[in-house]
Amino acid sequence: MEIENKNYLVVGLGKTGIETIKFLGQRGFNVRGTDSSPKSKFNNIEIDSISALGIEIEFGSHSQSYLEWADILVISPGVSVNTPYLLRAKELEKKIVSEIEFATTFINTPIIAITGSNGKTTTTTLISEILTNSGFNIFTGGNIGTPLITALEKADEYNFIVLETSSFQLQATEKFRPYISIFLNITPNHLDHHIDFDEYFQSKTNIFKNQTKSDWAIINSGDEKIKEYSENISSKIVSFGIATEHEDIKLKGNTVEFRDEEYDLSSIKLIGGHNLDNAMCAIAATVIAGCRKEVIEKTILDFTPLPHRIEFIGKHRGVNVYNDSKSTSPGATIKALDSISPPIILLAGGKDKGTDYKILTAPLHNKVKHLVLFGEAKKIMNQQLGTSVDTTMADSLEEAVEKAFSNSDEDDSILLSPACSSFDMFSSYEERGEVFKKIVQNF
Ligand code: ADP
Repeated sequence: MEIENKNYLVVGLGKTGIETIKFLGQRGFNVRGTDSSPKSKFNNIEIDSISALGIEIEFGSHSQSYLEWADILVISPGVSVNTPYLLRAKELEKKIVSEIEFATTFINTPIIAITGSNGKTTTTTLISEILTNSGFNIFTGGNIGTPLITALEKADEYNFIVLETSSFQLQATEKFRPYISIFLNITPNHLDHHIDFDEYFQSKTNIFKNQTKSDWAIINSGDEKIKEYSENISSKIVSFGIATEHEDIKLKGNTVEFRDEEYDLSSIKLIGGHNLDNAMCAIAATVIAGCRKEVIEKTILDFTPLPHRIEFIGKHRGVNVYNDSKSTSPGATIKALDSISPPIILLAGGKDKGTDYKILTAPLHNKVKHLVLFGEAKKIMNQQLGTSVDTTMADSLEEAVEKAFSNSDEDDSILLSPACSSFDMFSSYEERGEVFKKIVQNF
């Protein structure tokens, strides 16, 4: 990508957008910023520091004049190329790149990139901890919270960059080429921003697009769609999945086998079979990166589950309570239901993302004694699921917790695993999970 003498427009002024503007502004590039949210939503200190660099920023809407001025649009992680503004940009033949594409133009450090519908953060964190405990100097970032652009200051000092990548970030890539790419799984998600499931899937496959024979692809061949796609991958493939006998990484009971080594994960603290998938990917990636078996095994066994992901928050009034607020798609909720013993009282709902909830029917039928629905999606979820299980509706999370306890008996499990994003009632899944924990503790 030719980068000199261009006008850059940064679209989306969250953490990543702000860092991108600063990077460009401080290096004397022509840059402007645009965000459709009102100025009141932003941190004044950050905005003032950008204005002090003489950079123009617009809030509340995206103007045509900024679009016409721009040569290259650098888009933030949550921005889909299918928004009307970016579709207009495409019509005007503007170049559209994600921040990870832009940042990697300046980076030669090997990248380990992780994508999938679920399990990205857990796997990214596991890999980062193993590499760190093995003595490598690494940068961890991307969709996990720290913009990749902030790695550029010290990029040459890092042995590896570990990058969580979302479908949106991968969608607007051109030359992005990780040394190791991991594709964990694919289930319907973000269909409110992608044209359809196929487009969502295709954007994730961009993680392999520029890889060559000297790179590595770790893939879940237990997923038919990923397995079928793998014929198009040019790098060396390491597979894991359900048919473990035929895979490159094998799972026998709780023991993982990879390249003549055995990793005994019987005392793993992460709950559920899906976390063994995450662990298998972490093992393969870190072995390829040069880590020793002892360090890998010990780090996985010492790893404490991240908050809000099937997090056991204790026994209250004789009932086991789990917080899985990070479940923002039915696929993740299915895994949570698989991982916990019945009878379960499930709390679900939130902001609808255009997902088909019917895939929850069988797991609900098998494991759930009572379903409590809340939030914006409760009506549509009730239409799709209400007949398969005893269901009640709640107007708030407090009421949902109250209904969950009143429908539970001793030793049952109450599980918050919403299958929806949190933005109808909360600022983030973290806030939703924290509020849930407080309500339970005060109940
Ligand atoms: P992501 O970053 O992709 O959202 P997380 O690791 O934060 O992934 O987990 C998000 C949700 O997905 C949690 O509810 C978690 O229990 C579930 N999950 C984690 N790993 C997997 C996996 N390999 N397959 C399916 N669900 C998973």
